[in-house]
Formats: sequence, structure tokens, C-alpha cells
Amino acid sequence: MTTIDYHELYLDGAWQNPATGDTITVSSPATEQTVGSVPAASAQDIDRAVAAARRAFDDPQGWSSWHPKQRAALLEIFAVELESRAAETARRVSLQNGMPIWLAEQFEGGFPAVLLRYYSQLMSDAPAVEERAGMLGGTARITRHPVGVVGAVVPWNVPQAITFLKLAPALAAGCTVVLKPAEETVLDAFLMAEAAAAAGLPAGVLNVVPGGRDIGAYLVEHPGVDKVSFTGSTAAGRKIAETCGRLLRPITLELGGKSAAILLDDVDLEASLESLFGVTFLNNGQICWLNTRVLAPRSRYGEIVDALTDLARSLKVGDPLDPETKIGPLVSARQRERVEGYIAKGRSEGARLTTGGVRPADLESGYFVEPTVFADLDNTATVAREEIFGPVLSVIPFADEAEALAIANDSDYGLGGSVWSADIERAAELAARVQSGTIGVNHYTNDPVAPFGGVKSSGLGRELGPEGLHAFQHLRTVYLPPNA
Ligand code: NAD
Repeated sequence: MTTIDYHELYLDGAWQNPATGDTITVSSPATEQTVGSVPAASAQDIDRAVAAARRAFDDPQGWSSWHPKQRAALLEIFAVELESRAAETARRVSLQNGMPIWLAEQFEGGFPAVLLRYYSQLMSDAPAVEERAGMLGGTARITRHPVGVVGAVVPWNVPQAITFLKLAPALAAGCTVVLKPAEETVLDAFLMAEAAAAAGLPAGVLNVVPGGRDIGAYLVEHPGVDKVSFTGSTAAGRKIAETCGRLLRPITLELGGKSAAILLDDVDLEASLESLFGVTFLNNGQICWLNTRVLAPRSRYGEIVDALTDLARSLKVGDPLDPETKIGPLVSARQRERVEGYIAKGRSEGARLTTGGVRPADLESGYFVEPTVFADLDNTATVAREEIFGPVLSVIPFADEAEALAIANDSDYGLGGSVWSADIERAAELAARVQSGTIGVNHYTNDPVAPFGGVKSSGLGRELGPEGLHAFQHLRTVYLPPNA
């Protein structure tokens, strides 16, 4: 197979030689073969990227000073350039992280342009000034301003969609961005940079600096950065929050999860199975909001365990580029080891493995683990408490709704979740009591119009919706005197 190799970095609106000869090599988690390479950004490259973003932001005639409609017109061209590369973007993501191709086409190929258009429109429609009649006389005139240079750090699991949760509102608001993709998924980020260059984004508005955690930490701490937007693990999020706390630097954190799907006693199991797949095993179990705890009423526990076991067994495991594949490999050998460690822990703590737990016998290469279901455990089990980030479910029984709610809320995390019932209002009422940033009824979709984010160890702040735009804006109040 031919590899995809880049030799330059996208900095300051142009492809430029990197400061060092270090490279990042990417391999396919399905074949374990090399698929491409890019230069690794060094501290000097970050300095150049931040300086370029700073210049672009501070230019009095530059990006941040443009009318929102002017930025929207250019972001529309960017969206079109992305769309013309959508199939290749999906293919590259699938090649690098094992995401099933049909999912990559939706999340990675399609969603970025949707987000660019949503935020361009939102910004164009937003009133430039809000005036509030003062309680103490006078008027408060309130305006919003782009926050400045954004340091964006993203993970490998859904790399392009997560990138655009940050890029789309930041660019629409008039910020400039230095983006650090994860080392596992760089080839899609470089294709995205090609789209930005083809669209003619002004120099310095977007800069891409691939690297590992040290480079991420260097960017987060850089004196030229005004705001940090991070998606990744809770452990890294805590370190980044410490840095930003010391610097008093605004921050948005989208972190880990251990969400619960609550199946009520009147759930139509048969009709729900396809959607249940979408909230449990999607992307090989590597999505932060997945419902990896399934809470089942005791009256229907055996039936639900059997249905989920059958579901797990029915999923085609294999080549992520095959459109029939439902479960691809985990992203790396290290991630598979971690997942297998949790499976061993689940067994040693006495949970009953109903299916999976092993590598598929028919696949010779790749970091695959069969979809796995644990039953006969309670919410104190390690596999029910910690984020596994693999296709592993825990099915936990409950006696009544009060106990279901208590179990759902007994978690360090609070990011996603779902409630399943024939009675939508009954489910919605229970859903509203779950301590979580988002939760679905009989399905789960991150709709662009609504805020997405977590409580507790799942993060700080919100992406999506107008709130996702406000995260890249400062407020300024001018007090006008009475009778002005
Ligand atoms: P990770 O935290 O190891 O890495 C994420 C990114 O942060 C990578 O680009 C990495 O290089 C960088 N990084 C790591 N440590 C850093 C540091 N100290 N300073 C600066 N940058 C640093 O996470 P991962 O294993 O790549 O991703 C999986 C995790 O991401 C899971 O916990 C998952 O739940 C979480 N996630 C959350 C969301 C969300 O929206 N809440 C979405 C996707 C993934």
C-alpha cells in the first residue's frame, strides 16, 4: 500500500519546513502496517505557530476585525473544500484509528462542514450589541469580543468532529487557532489544513502542530495563548486545568465518561436494539459519552442480558474499511492491553462474562477485542466505575426507578446517558434527574443546536449551541450615563 507522507507543517498560512527532522509515523490498527507520516512539531514550531496566530489576531484589519458575514463567506468556502475531501477524510480516519467507515463518513466526513455553517450563521445572526436598561439609572451596553489566540488540543477517537467543535465557533467568533492533533490521527488533520489553504484562510488564522503530550503541554502553557480548549482524558484535563488555573487562562474541558443507559420496565427491547447499539458499542467503544453501564430492571434482567449478549454476538468485527463492519480494532496495542486488563479485572471481581472478552480467532493482525458483556455485577465493580474505552458493557440490575437513578448518579463522571421507555414523558422526567451534562430518551444524538459537555470529572464548560460560541468570546460592558 502506498503511504501518505508529508514533509512540511501548515503554519502561518503556508506549508513550511519544520524546525527539526523528527517525524510521527502512523500505522493502521487493523493491519499494523504503516499508513503514513508527518513532521513532528517541536517547541520552536509551536513558537512560530503561536506568533503567527498572534499577528493574525492583532492585525487591526485582520480576521478578528472582519464583519461576521465576511468571515462566514470564507468559512463557507472552507466548508465546501472540506466536503470535496469528505470521502478521503473518512478513509484516513478509519485507516488511522479503526473507526468503521460508515461512521467515519457521518462523523468525520460530514459533520465538520455542518458545524462551520451552523456557527457562521449563528455569529452572523447575533446582535452586535445588547443594551439593558440599568436598575440604577443609565444603560449597560454589552458587546462580545473574540477571546484571542486559541490553543486547541484534541484526541484521536473522533478527531475531525472534535476538532470542529472547537474550530468552527472559534473561527466564526474571530479567534485564531493553533491546533494540536493527537499523534495517532494526524493525516486527517493535514488534509483539513489543505482544505483551509485551498479556501484561502488568511495567514496565521489556523496553524497545525502535531505532537505528543509534551508538545500539548508546551502549547497550553505558551504565553501567546489566550484560551485553551481541550478534549481528552480526565487525567490530562486535570493537569491542563492546573496550568490554566495558575495562569488564569480561560479553559474548556471535555473529558471522560461512564454514562448509564436506564432501561425502564416498559421498554420495547426489540425496537430499541439498533439505537442501543448506537449508545453502547459505537466506534468500537471509543466515544466519551457512550453508555457503558446498562441499568436493567430486575423483572426483565435476564431478558435484557440475553438481548445485549445476542446483539454483541451479531456485530461484524473486522476491517474498518469494509462498510459491513460494525466493530473495528482498538486504536493501538496499548489501548487493547488496557481494555484486556479491565476484562481480566471484571472476571477476577466475580462478574459473569456472557460473551466476548477475547480477541477474535479469525483475525490474524490488528488490535481487536470481541464485543464484551458483563452481567451479575453491581455498581461497585471496577468495570462499572472506570472508563474502559473499548467495547465492554456492564449490565447492572435495579429494583425500581429510585434505585436506577441512584446507580446512574453514583459515578465520578456525568457526560451522557439515556433512558428507554414506551412512555416518553416518564423517561424524560427521569432523565432530567440524572446528574449529567446531556442525556437522551430512546436515542442519543449530539445535536449542534444544544450545549454538550460534562459535570463532575467529565469536564468544564460546554461545546455546541450558542454556549459553544460564547466559550470563545469575552463580554465587555460599557455603562452609559442616565439621559445619554
Ligand atoms: P489523552 O488525554 O491522552 O490525549 C488527548 C490529547 O491531549 C492528545 O492530543 C494528547 O497528545 C494531548 N495531551 C495529553 N496529555 C497532555 C497534557 N498534559 N497537556 C497537553 N496535552 C496533552 O486522551 P486520549 O487517550 O487520546 O483520548 C481518550 C480520552 O478522551 C477518553 O478519556 C475520552 O473519554 C476522552 N474524550 C472526551 C470527549 C468529550 O467530549 N468529553 C470526546 C472524546 C474523547
